[in-house]
Amino acid sequence: MFDNLTEKLQNTFKRMRNKGRLTEDDVREGLRDVRMALLEADVNFKVVKDFLSRVEQEAIGQDILESLTPAQGVVRIVRDQLTELMGNHVERIKMASNPPTVIYLVGLQGSGKTTSTAKLAKMLKQQGRQPLMVATDIYRPAAVDQLQALGQQIGVPVIYEDGLSPVQLVREGWQRSRQMAKDVILVDTAGRLHIDNALMDELVQMQKEVPAHETLLVVDAMTGQDAVRVAKAFKETLPVTGVILTKLDGDARGGAALSIRAVTDLPIKLIATGEKVDALEAFQPDRMASRILG
Ligand code: GDP
Repeated sequence: MFDNLTEKLQNTFKRMRNKGRLTEDDVREGLRDVRMALLEADVNFKVVKDFLSRVEQEAIGQDILESLTPAQGVVRIVRDQLTELMGNHVERIKMASNPPTVIYLVGLQGSGKTTSTAKLAKMLKQQGRQPLMVATDIYRPAAVDQLQALGQQIGVPVIYEDGLSPVQLVREGWQRSRQMAKDVILVDTAGRLHIDNALMDELVQMQKEVPAHETLLVVDAMTGQDAVRVAKAFKETLPVTGVILTKLDGDARGGAALSIRAVTDLPIKLIATGEKVDALEAFQPDRMASRILG
């Protein structure tokens, strides 16, 4: 994960450490390398600019330059600011005080929605919840089959009926959750290759029928700034409450992870790091920052 970025940052900080004492110019030169590394990692241009001005403001201070290990001081500042950039705290999935909690997973086709729906169901089940999944991607029969297979694998029921529209399916899911005494409804929705009005409209109609407690946008980390643009577009139409960032296991750059929060103000709530059903975890900004710095 983020191997390219980590390697470049490590080289920069190694050069700084080798110098021992640092002048203001040394720090500025080091931060120019950090800037290049972030831009090459496909981090949003403005995010990089603001980030570096915050780091520079802190790093040029007397305390850092006169300390015995100034390079370490700079690394600490970069780590703190990276953590801040990604939202600082763990953002949990909000559960309704009056169950069932309704969670929609939305996003483009291929982003990892169906897989993430099952992963989240498994995670919630392990936490003692009683989830149920609703398959509403009626345009892609393979998606329904895939969710049903995953449901069997993790022992979570999947609601689906031929001939029902997505709006009718969520209503059905809601009614069945009452009958089956399930406390979380996970709705796997249809995706398109591109954002289109019909897709958004349908999601809006579904949420009118069965309101959401959480609308989680699933985005593919490997698509970098495209993932950020997708997040902006979905947020304009739907009450998106958080992001699930998938395929981090294949992301050598890190641009999406480092930009989404700052650009869209949406918290990354969960990250997916593999194809298996247990490859989902809560997103911890501080741990991610440490991982990026290696
Ligand atoms: P959907 O069209 O949005 O429902 O996407 P799917 O859930 O069908 O996922 C598309 C492909 O991405 C599948 O082959 C998944 O196995 C794969 N995938 C999903 N999440 C991850 C992940 O975190 N890491 C990796 N390596 N593959 C993933």
